Amino acid sequence: MFKKFLFIFILLPFYSFSQNKINYKVFYDKNLEENGLKIQVEYTVPDSAKTAYFHYSNSNWGEENLFKSLIIKQEDNPQNTFETHPEKDEIKIRPQKGGKISFIYHIKQDFSEPSHHVFNRPRVKNNFFHVLGKNLFIVPKSFTEMPENETIDISIEWVNFPEKFKVHNTFGTQIKKQRIKTSLWQGFYHSLFVGGDYRIYGFRFHEKQIYFAIRDQWHNGFTDDFLFSNLKKAIQSQRDFWKDYSQDYFTVIMTPTVSQDDELFKGYSTKGSAIQNAFMIHGTNNLFNNKNSYLYLLHHELMHDWIGNKIQNKNEELNYWFSEGFTDYYTYKNRLRIKDISFDEWVSLFNTEILAGHWKNPSRNIPNYKIKDDFWKNRNIEKIPYRLGAIFAFWLDNQIMIKSNYTKSLDNLMRELLVYCTKNKIKFSDEIFLDLVAKYLNQDISYFFQKHIISGEDIELVSEKWIDCFMFKIIDNIPQLELKENSEVKYPINN
Ligand SMILES: [Zn+2]
Repeated sequence: MFKKFLFIFILLPFYSFSQNKINYKVFYDKNLEENGLKIQVEYTVPDSAKTAYFHYSNSNWGEENLFKSLIIKQEDNPQNTFETHPEKDEIKIRPQKGGKISFIYHIKQDFSEPSHHVFNRPRVKNNFFHVLGKNLFIVPKSFTEMPENETIDISIEWVNFPEKFKVHNTFGTQIKKQRIKTSLWQGFYHSLFVGGDYRIYGFRFHEKQIYFAIRDQWHNGFTDDFLFSNLKKAIQSQRDFWKDYSQDYFTVIMTPTVSQDDELFKGYSTKGSAIQNAFMIHGTNNLFNNKNSYLYLLHHELMHDWIGNKIQNKNEELNYWFSEGFTDYYTYKNRLRIKDISFDEWVSLFNTEILAGHWKNPSRNIPNYKIKDDFWKNRNIEKIPYRLGAIFAFWLDNQIMIKSNYTKSLDNLMRELLVYCTKNKIKFSDEIFLDLVAKYLNQDISYFFQKHIISGEDIELVSEKWIDCFMFKIIDNIPQLELKENSEVKYPINN
């Protein structure tokens, strides 16, 4: 009896450990376009299991029917039988026996090019690939049911990739045997894997490594040097702002959807997305490439590494006034601080992009809860949290500067919020935020917050209090920020 107990006791930790472990081998092929990326999975299932369930995401970031890019061939897997259920994101495998199972699948591009509108489907060509982690790696279904922070132990071997075919991803660069320990949804499945004819540039800042990976030749002044030097400037200044140099590895990956040197497609269609340890830019490359749009995107997306990634929303869309609005406010404030834009440019951007943009939006007075339902469906509604949140951030910044007699600003509050959320592993909520604001203003602003941010009533900017250099005037029914002459106060204050 005693012996049996001891045996179970020793076996259990080992058993649960092996359940979190998975190995992948990804194979190079000269004809990737035709054959896809061949991937071999090795995983241990309990001996008694007659059926193993695996997960592959059939829809992801606006793309549907992703099972079309997943190919499982019986000839690769004589020892197993498969059933796929795209509607359940499920692959059912019947192995010949339990224990260690191994199977092979292929990830292939399922759409033809050029396409300006496909951003997140796997792209697999002979000279490169660009696949989100979620659509490159099948995982055991049990991984998807784990507690959010539970770590999985992943090893990936990149087999036979020639030296000039770079292997780069959000977990490392040019490492042929990768060992990744991370959670599933926020980590392994919040990632991007690329390879091929990428050019990779790196620099170190406070002992931490940062990479920029880019492929193809970009038009209209988007030289590698312009793109990379501005990226460097943005990352350095944002880490200095947050006084946070903790990120061990970071990469920006830039890939064209369609490259054209004619004017056939008169558009600009780019998406930037913050992912684990990284941010990806995926968009059109043509004569309409715009340097200002790039700089805006860069500063906005990099800011999400803190507002959104490290300070995480508790209630996703309901907190977008913060995660999008404050990110946007700091996008402009940071660009002004590093003189990427002049003070006059900052005022003009604030007036046109934020204030006029908001006041011309016919949906601007909807209550916050509606943003949850309509954010992804309606462009006017999508824009509300960006602009309203930025106006609120500006208001709050002013109130803190006034209250503290210019010794503090919203910057201090943001840094305190970061430390609070990360140290205590707490997500951002209205309550936490309002408590912190009360500490800085010595006053509860719940009523103001409820009225303007939750219920959506316009803020009377003209009659609010502002730091000495600012005032508001109504021009064509839109409040516009104006500067008082001869004021000694300078914005932003650096503290
Ligand atoms: Zn954003």
